[in-house]
Amino acid sequence: MTASYSTASPAFAFDNSFARTLEGFYVPWQGEKVPSPRIVLLNEALADQLDLSLDATDGKLAAIFAGSEKAEGSEPIAQAYAGHQFGGFSPQLGDGRALLLGELLDREGQRFDIQLKGSGRTPFSRGGDGKAVLGPVLREYIMGEAMHALGIPTTRALAAVTTGEEIRRQGLKPGAVLVRVAASHIRVGTFQFFAARGAWDEVSKLADYTIARHYPEVMTAGNRYLALFEAVARRQAELIARWMQIGFVHGVMNTDNMALSGETIDYGPCAFMDRYDAATVFSSIDRNGRYAYSNQPQIGQWNLARFAETLVPLIGAEDEDHAAGLLTDRLTDYMGIYKEAWLAGMGRKIGLAQAKGQDTALIQILLGSLQGENVDFTLFFRRLGESLVSEEGQSALLALFEDPDAIAGWLKDWRIRLAEEALPLHDIAKAMAKVNPVYIPRNHMVEAALQKAEDFADLREVRQLLDVLAHPFDEQKGLEDYARPAPSGFGPFVTYCGT
Ligand code: AMP
Ligand code: MG
Repeated sequence: MTASYSTASPAFAFDNSFARTLEGFYVPWQGEKVPSPRIVLLNEALADQLDLSLDATDGKLAAIFAGSEKAEGSEPIAQAYAGHQFGGFSPQLGDGRALLLGELLDREGQRFDIQLKGSGRTPFSRGGDGKAVLGPVLREYIMGEAMHALGIPTTRALAAVTTGEEIRRQGLKPGAVLVRVAASHIRVGTFQFFAARGAWDEVSKLADYTIARHYPEVMTAGNRYLALFEAVARRQAELIARWMQIGFVHGVMNTDNMALSGETIDYGPCAFMDRYDAATVFSSIDRNGRYAYSNQPQIGQWNLARFAETLVPLIGAEDEDHAAGLLTDRLTDYMGIYKEAWLAGMGRKIGLAQAKGQDTALIQILLGSLQGENVDFTLFFRRLGESLVSEEGQSALLALFEDPDAIAGWLKDWRIRLAEEALPLHDIAKAMAKVNPVYIPRNHMVEAALQKAEDFADLREVRQLLDVLAHPFDEQKGLEDYARPAPSGFGPFVTYCGT
């Protein structure tokens, strides 16, 4: 029977399983009051997916998103975690400027965290001010949405809010809060926090929660913690393979920035590579190139080794050496899975529906030919596909090279290999256009848009960029500028952490 009266349903149907299940893993907390919260970007498609009734907030939505007002049903918490940062262990990091409002189920029943970033100091803030500023908030918004549209697992942005505060960074900057949606915020560092304290009951509780939330299929495995490790390693391998295929450099792959869900998380100093260079580093603090483009697969493995260490006593309390051996085998498997995923994806980028082992060499030789040739990574693959179906495409491809001879030999070998596909070139070109984007968040475009937003509160370019990046594979007339590499005067591009 349906009720004959109507009650206003709350805007968010929060269900706070983390807070309910994992007491001791967080501190109940609240955001700070801010002078004048204002929503500057709202992701309506995501709000719809999450089934939010945003008009049911009595005009308080901006304050809720800034952390100044508590939403009905929310039990805001700051989560504890540790982490290896650039290889050195910090036993206590935690949400120093983030607040988990709670979890929501989307229209398909999938559970998501709603988290604020920049809502003020918490017990984990250490020396920080707990705040975020508009430029980096918008940057994370743009990068996450771009990755999502590219089909890469990622946290997403639900909204960006300005707070009316001026925050001291290099000069005064407009204060802002990012409302972030994630499959969860459980990190390798969350496990490390409790493992470092020898709190093994807590680690198993966390592992059980992670399994229930992200890997229910391993619940019945003979050794479920080993199966959890295997499943996490597989998702990381697949995720990092995707990064490599689109030229994404995360920039700060600390263990506290690796999510157990397999999503890309914590967009700080990340950026997309323009010209192909395996050694690409953008972050100003990554002086030794630990997190360089080509190191990412190995760093994924290093981080997983740190995760494995937290599981040893769970897997073999009575024989830790045996447990460590089992985990080490899985760590070795990670690299094989990564290579397989990389080969399959890179194969598709050059038009091979099912790349075989011997195609690895073809792809490696290609990357070797691009190295040091000042060739735009994204445009190369896009034009490679177009070169199959038009003269224009062919000349556009060669025009990327100062010396077209550098690629001539490879192109011949590639055509010979394509012939084995026994498919019309048109079909191959079409398949390539579905995996090789026209539009990525080009550093110079992103920076220009952010500067307008920060300096003049003008978000038109940010919105336009978000529109373009929402359809990265569809060439659109009039948007040619968005597909171009940075002008020669731009760069070297440097990104900054902790903003
Ligand atoms: P991130 O570089 O954003 O991944 O952050 C690394 C750690 O520093 C996390 O524990 C953050 O919560 C903390 N942190 C970063 N910026 C701030 C800030 N402005 N105030 C407080 N804590 C921060
Ligand atoms: Mg982080």
